[in-house]
Amino acid sequence: MRFYLTTAIDYVNSRPHLGTAYEKITADVIARYKRLCGIDTYFLMGNDEHSQNVYRRALEQGLDPLAYCDQMEREFRAVWAQLDLSFDDFIRTTEPRHRAAVQELAQTCFDNGDIYEGVYEGWYCVSCEAFKQEKDLLDGKCPLHPTLSPEWIREKNYFFRLSRYRDALLAHFRSTPTFLQPEMRRNEMLRLLESGLEDISVSRAGQHWGIPLPFAPDNVVYVWFDALINYAAAVGYGTDEARFSVWWPADLHIVGKDITRFHTVVWPAMLMSAGLALPAAVFGHGWVHFGGQRMSKSLGTSLDPSDVARRLGPDSLRLYLVKELSYGSDGDFTWERYEERYNVDLANNLGNLVSRVAAMAEKYRGLRLQPVGAGGRLAALAGTVLDRYRASMDSLALHDGAAAAFQLVDATNEYIAETAPWTLAKNTANTARLDEALFAAAEAVRVAAVLLRPIMPASAAEILRRVGDTTPIDALRLEQHGRWRAEGTREIVKGPPLWPRVEEAGPAKEITVEQPATTPAPAEEPRITIDEFMKVDLRVAKVLEAEAIPKSKKLLKLKVDTGRDQRTIVAGIAEAYPPERLVGRTVVIVANLQPATLMGVESNGMVLAGSPDGGQPILVGFDQDVTPGARVR
Ligand SMILES: [Zn+2]
Repeated sequence: MRFYLTTAIDYVNSRPHLGTAYEKITADVIARYKRLCGIDTYFLMGNDEHSQNVYRRALEQGLDPLAYCDQMEREFRAVWAQLDLSFDDFIRTTEPRHRAAVQELAQTCFDNGDIYEGVYEGWYCVSCEAFKQEKDLLDGKCPLHPTLSPEWIREKNYFFRLSRYRDALLAHFRSTPTFLQPEMRRNEMLRLLESGLEDISVSRAGQHWGIPLPFAPDNVVYVWFDALINYAAAVGYGTDEARFSVWWPADLHIVGKDITRFHTVVWPAMLMSAGLALPAAVFGHGWVHFGGQRMSKSLGTSLDPSDVARRLGPDSLRLYLVKELSYGSDGDFTWERYEERYNVDLANNLGNLVSRVAAMAEKYRGLRLQPVGAGGRLAALAGTVLDRYRASMDSLALHDGAAAAFQLVDATNEYIAETAPWTLAKNTANTARLDEALFAAAEAVRVAAVLLRPIMPASAAEILRRVGDTTPIDALRLEQHGRWRAEGTREIVKGPPLWPRVEEAGPAKEITVEQPATTPAPAEEPRITIDEFMKVDLRVAKVLEAEAIPKSKKLLKLKVDTGRDQRTIVAGIAEAYPPERLVGRTVVIVANLQPATLMGVESNGMVLAGSPDGGQPILVGFDQDVTPGARVR
């Protein structure tokens, strides 16, 4: 089975805000869920670069538009990496593969008689980059951009015969109720189709930033017509027909509710014209409001997802957005609500449960748990929860999927309270009952972590490690590992609290608009003990050799002398340090980090560097010579 999933591609005239991140996070949850189900998944994201707003922004900054887009790609990718997004491909509309696809599709529609020359006269919202009909405007303004005045334009354009596809689209909407979800969006589109469709402009005259129409190269393709084609381009349309036949049609386009018309009317009509299959489904998600207001750069009510993720960790943000917002509807983010949910769901509930299971396992069984019995009602509940979870995730009710996992977490906390292992431990006659209770609690946590893996990938992996699940994380399968398993000894691992409580409001909470805190209030930073710090073995090392890692822009392979051994460390400093400048240099390393393989090279440690936001890494150094092997503390 295969699953091809896409998100909208983003204009790069500004950094992503939390609403943009919401779309990508929920799509990532779906992609990870499909993979967990053993489905061969292709998850596409990307940037929309042929926008006049992007072009203008580049000129404002005195940059060549492509250089500007390169820079924004790095910024977008940095944010997406921080949010742990697992896309398989990232397309940019300035790439040759995209250009080839756009030209092929435009030519095919033209050859089929669906593109003709005409004159467009009417309103145009520069910020939407969309033509607006009189009836779309509210008091003469674009409803999405009430601070701007739409422009009246008159230009010779090429038009796409959208009107020709109205009946076919209507028939498709009626025969395939799942084509546009959720239901309320479908009803909007049905009404639109019933009221008739007008042909749309597919080119802009007098502009150069864009892809030329193959049959009229003095015109560039209108940015929306251009952008939609990315979904086909990424899987080989126009460049690799064999690959295209494997992955097309897409199974699911995730888009914002404001652009469902483009995706369920314009795009399918383009595909019909070109003789291509339609995507199986389009999901129009709602908006994340910030303190009750629509999040928008132009309205000045925007939050940077990096700031939010830094505050309490990316997984806390992912959980909040998935669990607290009903997928498909609008929802709200406030710092107060975010911290409250963090404390309730993570610090007090899941995090505390993981700590308790480990503490009891250590105290009563030396961290080694044996399966006894079948798990009783907790095992039965886990089965029910798995069914609920699967049904919810399959129907894109992601919030219900998250709630199902937490149903098991809640039940496990109750189970511990009821079985009271601390009482059982007082009497050796209860040995078997104590074994059963401890194992069942650990097993329920394990199952919950499997279910949470798509939503909180790193945290779920850590919880699985702590409850002694040794399955390689990418080999997890819902059918096999999401079920109760009363088997196998579990070696429980103790660790520091996963989510320390956030106490009281810090100054960062006060900041609501446009300037989210970049430095968390000291009181909110989880503190660690000196013992915890001393577990990190920081040492002085000397670089013996350095070389670039092929195909990696960021990574260098270093051979260092740690005073005790010579070892290989992969460091993400290539953009700031050419290899030759590093040989002979003294660096600080984390010496006792578990090995990790990066771009095929096993790294045994980490080189420390200052990492300014948006800037390049700066290596940590000393103001006098220090011998390799000296401890840093
Ligand atoms: Zn607008």
